[in-house]
Amino acid sequence: MRGATRALAMTGLAVAGVAAPATASLGPLRRRLAPRLAGIGDAGHIALTYDDGPDPLSTPHFLDLLEDFGRTATFFLLGAHVARHPDLVIEMAQRGHELAVHGWEHECVLTLGPGRLLSDLRDTATLIEDVSGQRPRWYRPPYGVLSTPALLAARATGLRTVLWSAWGRDWEARATPPRIVRTVERTLGPGGTVLLHDTDRTSATGSWQHTLQASRVLLECWADGPVAVGRLGDHGLRAHRSGTSSQVRGRIGPPQWSP
Ligand SMILES: [Zn+2]
Repeated sequence: MRGATRALAMTGLAVAGVAAPATASLGPLRRRLAPRLAGIGDAGHIALTYDDGPDPLSTPHFLDLLEDFGRTATFFLLGAHVARHPDLVIEMAQRGHELAVHGWEHECVLTLGPGRLLSDLRDTATLIEDVSGQRPRWYRPPYGVLSTPALLAARATGLRTVLWSAWGRDWEARATPPRIVRTVERTLGPGGTVLLHDTDRTSATGSWQHTLQASRVLLECWADGPVAVGRLGDHGLRAHRSGTSSQVRGRIGPPQWSP
């Protein structure tokens, strides 16, 4: 069931029925915003992002790997697990990584009301800041499913919503390190944002080990290239400032790009 939901979300079908009327009337706006939602930034930079942590079993391996290559990344965290593993979150921040909001639990935003969405995002952002001293700037909803209440809640929390433009499909049971690497290379374009997972919390059991191996290969490939690799905060994207919720107008539909 979980896999089916994710598969639907990835194709935009899960939200199409909800947002289609709004998006149909806002095509130009959607086209203008889609690259921003996909995290398209500076052409000379790749944003490396990991979702669903922190996880004490797997995340430290990613921190060590990134340190080996002198790289930092953006980690989209779940508030409930930040609460359980604050020391790990402190370490992530101290090692130079950027902390972002993925929600309190890993729930599809379409199942949550506006009040719950707002409290989830605020609680997660506040907890991350209280624990690490780092105020999150980015929000990525679970499964990449967007809704107007979720976008508004993010904006009201001072977070900019960013999905991804490239992925490794590393959550799949059939994902092997070479397959993940090939999928990232096939989907990655200039200024892309790469989605991977530093835990198998919502993925196939043990998949993080494949992602770790794939990450090493990718970092080796990128090590001598002309393109820099790092955090979303260094990707040339503009974050929201707090208190800009009054600037939100209209409705925004699901992202429309080919992964
Ligand atoms: Zn996720």
